[in-house]
Amino acid sequence: MTARVLVSDDLSQEAVQILKKAGLEVDVKVGLKPEELEAIIGDYDALAVRSATKVNAKVLDKAKKLKVVGRAGVGVDNVDLDAATRRGVVVMNTPGGSSTTVAELALALMLSLSRHVAAATASVKAGKWEKKKFQGHELAGKTLGVVGIGNIGSVLVDRAIALKMRVLAYDPFISADAAQKLGVELVDLDTLWRNADVFSLHVPLNEQTKNLVNAEVFAKMKKGALLVNCARGGIVDEKALADALASGQLGGAAMDVFEKEPPPADHPLFKFENFACTPHIGASTEEAQSAVAIAIAEQLALYLNQGVVKNAVNVLGLPKEVMEQLSPYLPLVEKLGSLAAQIAPSGPTEVTIEVAGELAAHPSRPLANRALVGFLRHFMDTPVNEVNAPAIARDRGLAVKEVRTAEPLDYASLVTVRVTGPAGAVHVAGTVYGKNDARIVRVDGFRLEAVPDGNVIMCENDDSPGVVGNLGTALGTAGVNIARISLSRLDDKSRAFAFLNVDSKPSQEVLDGLRKLPHVRIVRAIVL
Ligand code: NAD
Repeated sequence: MTARVLVSDDLSQEAVQILKKAGLEVDVKVGLKPEELEAIIGDYDALAVRSATKVNAKVLDKAKKLKVVGRAGVGVDNVDLDAATRRGVVVMNTPGGSSTTVAELALALMLSLSRHVAAATASVKAGKWEKKKFQGHELAGKTLGVVGIGNIGSVLVDRAIALKMRVLAYDPFISADAAQKLGVELVDLDTLWRNADVFSLHVPLNEQTKNLVNAEVFAKMKKGALLVNCARGGIVDEKALADALASGQLGGAAMDVFEKEPPPADHPLFKFENFACTPHIGASTEEAQSAVAIAIAEQLALYLNQGVVKNAVNVLGLPKEVMEQLSPYLPLVEKLGSLAAQIAPSGPTEVTIEVAGELAAHPSRPLANRALVGFLRHFMDTPVNEVNAPAIARDRGLAVKEVRTAEPLDYASLVTVRVTGPAGAVHVAGTVYGKNDARIVRVDGFRLEAVPDGNVIMCENDDSPGVVGNLGTALGTAGVNIARISLSRLDDKSRAFAFLNVDSKPSQEVLDGLRKLPHVRIVRAIVL
């Protein structure tokens, strides 16, 4: 029987034709009320949407035949992924479909800043003719610093090289090989801030990137540098940005995104002539909208006709027997992956998941995929899950290995996540006591017994008396409550280690304070 597709948001005619040519029966019904959608969804095998249609649990409940929901675009906030997964409905999106479009806006803003296009337009329209005032700079020969060279950042790199710019990039998840192929010099953040003339940000907003560009960073930049943010509001500290523009330290800034959108009319940045902005239109071009519509039509046709899943964002269930054995370990390996991501050196090239003991009797793929989810989430903006994690890793040149050994390693079952790359390696391991009592038991050479949950401070120090007392006093004074503490030291006593679960996120100031304590070598804040 011919599969039926309901297109409930505005897709292009071209996309609809792709579905029809693939032999599918297509109904286009845009603007359905929720109850109208619920009334008809039972007749369809596939649903194609943008962001307007809300595919919630009520709709999915009525969708007895539905096999797949295709979202033309990246965000899938309008689809209840859990409900879809429970019903065995695959949800797909189209990551990367608007990368060129966003990169071109970043480029437009860079050019606009270097030639004062926005300010000069306002000046001419106000009846002035200020040729001298608007003397600009060429981008050719200048150094561009790109933070994040994923889908969008890498397109910008390509365009910037064509403009004869030298490109420096910082991306802890890109291997030196991949960077070299792109034609960028991979550097650490400090080098990037100090050496580029123009900066463009292309990272997700998360714990690591919030206020990434702050007062301290502006102070490191060359005087007169330019900054473009087409990623997410909140990555740039807007107050510090206003100060850097006011002092002249920054030559100009342009943003498509704000901490609060829309920004208030009296936003402190608006008074600067050398501040340009757009209303979060990074992905808004006809081409991008058309590209994502075509991509989703092709993906839906591929799935309905050949069963090939591309860019799925949800997970279909594991066999029940496997699930029962593995399920206590799945949240643990995700946390191990997350911990490894937060402590691994830049440029990882390989992730290995080792399963030892009783658990090795079962397939390790679900554990490996879940560890990857924990690992990759720290680097990706697109939703990462067990379905798409292996493909994301592959696309980024990250090799994934699984090792199973029936021989137990000190514990009935032990799962180790090992991350390696040219800059070094880390490994973390964990086990589950009883039914659900997960513990991290190894962090590199340190043996410990720590609960993998919430805010954590990890501290490496010389094995000297008084360090733990000092840590406790410093945190207590700062009002950070220690919930649990696990201590360890290397067999040769050369170094000791403390893993502290704390009740609140320690501020930068608190962490800096800990770093200054006697005998303390490394302090890291981790979120699990
Ligand atoms: P992506 O996931 O393909 O790439 C993000 C890159 O950032 C990855 O390579 C990752 O390794 C890197 N990264 C993660 N954490 C980092 C860190 N702390 N420091 C340096 N690099 C880090 O994402 P993308 O599709 O290229 O999107 C990039 C950003 O652009 C996202 O924030 C996205 O939300 C935003 N975006 C904005 C618009 C808009 O309308 N302005 C449209 C689409 C996307």
